Amino acid sequence: MPCGRGKKPHKATQKRKGKANKRNETALAYLDDPDQPQVPPPRPPDGGYVIYFLKDCDNKVSKCYGCKGNLKHEGQIPQPPGDLVVVSRGRREYFKDGTKLYGEINNIYFHLSEQCIKSKNTFFVPSLVYVAPYVVSQFQQDHKDLLDQCSITYNI
Ligand SMILES: [Zn+2]
Repeated sequence: MPCGRGKKPHKATQKRKGKANKRNETALAYLDDPDQPQVPPPRPPDGGYVIYFLKDCDNKVSKCYGCKGNLKHEGQIPQPPGDLVVVSRGRREYFKDGTKLYGEINNIYFHLSEQCIKSKNTFFVPSLVYVAPYVVSQFQQDHKDLLDQCSITYNI
């Protein structure tokens, strides 16, 4: 019977389809999981600055490169808008046997404060700061107010 034989492979195809759908659902659940780090580490261009959420930075980030103050309070990320930091590239200064040395070029972090950044770079102007769209998309009103205060522009 040609009809019966024809149906069998069709059924098998449907079964495979079902499995594929299941895999997709798992992938989507992964994307929706807020505990999964989805945001890549900040990569500011040379001489540039980017705004980043502290939660998306390396866990070890704790001090402002400008004022040397804490970016976190007792290891906890502060309430908005204190959870935003400015990231740039530079060499960390350190002292060995009383001599000032410079480390490898690496990410350096600042409070979102012109004063903190200017203490390391007197040529800093707010127009050097870039805010990525996926950072802007998470902004609350407090974040927007702070950026306005610092004359940092961003596109929604
Ligand atoms: Zn600071």
